[in-house]
Amino acid sequence: MTNAKLPVCLTIAGLDPSGGAGVIADIKTFTAFGCFGTAAITSLTYQNTVGVFGAEHQSADCVRRQVLPVIEDLGVDSVKTGMLPTVEVIVETAQLIADNRLRNIVVDPVVRSTSGFDLINGEALSELIRLLFPLSNLVTPNIPETERITGISIESEIDLDDAADVIRSMGAKNVLIKGGHFDRDQTAGGLRIARDRLYTGNGKLYLDAEYIDTTATHGTGCTLAAAVAANLAQGRGLVDSVRIAKEYVDRAIRTPTNLGNGSSPIGFPRN
Ligand code: PLP
Repeated sequence: MTNAKLPVCLTIAGLDPSGGAGVIADIKTFTAFGCFGTAAITSLTYQNTVGVFGAEHQSADCVRRQVLPVIEDLGVDSVKTGMLPTVEVIVETAQLIADNRLRNIVVDPVVRSTSGFDLINGEALSELIRLLFPLSNLVTPNIPETERITGISIESEIDLDDAADVIRSMGAKNVLIKGGHFDRDQTAGGLRIARDRLYTGNGKLYLDAEYIDTTATHGTGCTLAAAVAANLAQGRGLVDSVRIAKEYVDRAIRTPTNLGNGSSPIGFPRN
């Protein structure tokens, strides 16, 4: 037995009752990395693997009343934010992070579900950028989110570098742009690649995995950001945390759940 405190991770995100994305994916991921998962729900969504059918966004007061007792009682070692659907929830989340000096903040700038449901409105996105990017240790956009955030249409490596510069100029210290199928026609060692790019104050780092041709990717973005937050809570550095998180998501995609009739949730390998 050890007296070391169990690392506590907090996700502030949406609830996907079908378990593939949002806070349920985050909690599974925190647990897989030996952390204690806690959660505040920003929006109660109605969805399954086929699509998102609606959402009831929670008030700022509701989010505050979920988060404060957790912070005050358990102590939070890292935070992952996901779906922050409204300006009021974004303002509240930023305030909670700043007032309580929360550390190790990973911001997944969720914009739209794969099935095309808007999880945040345009006005809220600009507040997310203004208030949360400067508080974050890492922002994790995919390509469509990168385009929405920066207004740059991503067609080349230079576009990616320019977009990362813009996101860093918005206050994000580090940016992980998730390539998804962007690089799938490139090969390394004969294999097609899924390449993420980590931009830090020290430059750019490529993180490659084999590209797996599948639509069973529901929850990938949530899981990656939660895995980074879990590793930061365990005391690892940013680059190590991102590498370990990427490797975990790769394993999760390779162990599909094969559930549902739509985009099946990725698996949850144990470490
Ligand atoms: N639902 C919630 C609550 C989410 O947070 C997200 C993404 O972050 C999604 C749905 C979208 O997931 P996907 O793009 O895998 O459908």
